[in-house]
Amino acid sequence: MAAMQQITASLYQISLGVVNVFVIKDTKNGLTLIDTGYKGSSEKIVSAIRKAGEDPLTIRQIILTHCHPDHAGSAAAFNAEWGIPVWAYYQDVPLLAKGSAGEVPIHLSPGVINWFIYHLFIKRGSSAIDPVIVDRSLTSKEVLPIAGGLQVLHTPGHSSGHIALLLQQERVLIAGDLCANVAGLDFSTVYEDRRLGVQSILEVARLDVEKAVFGHGKLLAPRANEKLAAKFSAL
Ligand SMILES: [Zn+2]
Repeated sequence: MAAMQQITASLYQISLGVVNVFVIKDTKNGLTLIDTGYKGSSEKIVSAIRKAGEDPLTIRQIILTHCHPDHAGSAAAFNAEWGIPVWAYYQDVPLLAKGSAGEVPIHLSPGVINWFIYHLFIKRGSSAIDPVIVDRSLTSKEVLPIAGGLQVLHTPGHSSGHIALLLQQERVLIAGDLCANVAGLDFSTVYEDRRLGVQSILEVARLDVEKAVFGHGKLLAPRANEKLAAKFSAL
């Protein structure tokens, strides 16, 4: 059973097996859920939140890092069954409305683990998601009034409308699929445009980021930005 794992004072990770979602707890403004896992994940997420002593009815909004099925798959269910508004980067808003996960990212990253993930999960997976109407369309660099400031960072490459989120007070980056930290820090399994993905990673690496969490894999800390720069600047 999935559990909420505390990352910082206000950030929690829920591992759903192949993908992670995150909960930001703002003592004044309730909970924010970042990403939703594959379709059918809402019960698992809700029970993890309850098990941690929090009330799922206090989830004020869902923010999606991008519209792939393993991140946006349960957004429609949360929206319909729990009435939770969904926020997403403006480029993904029309895709989400028509239930599209966007362009299928075709550039497979090197390595045998990626090969297996690709053939087991991505190639056979559907590029469709349940449609959901986005309540708030996000723009890059805007700072959302969540937990002292949550900055939206457009980080294209893995997908063209991909965003990462920076929890400013705690200097923690919610990286989505910017890259991954499954068997060590590395590329995400697939990219629409990997060169652009590297540019996005290096832009983020210029910020003061102490910890980074990912859609896939483990926490990266301390001095996450230095680790990102060290890994990706030669590529
Ligand atoms: Zn993805």
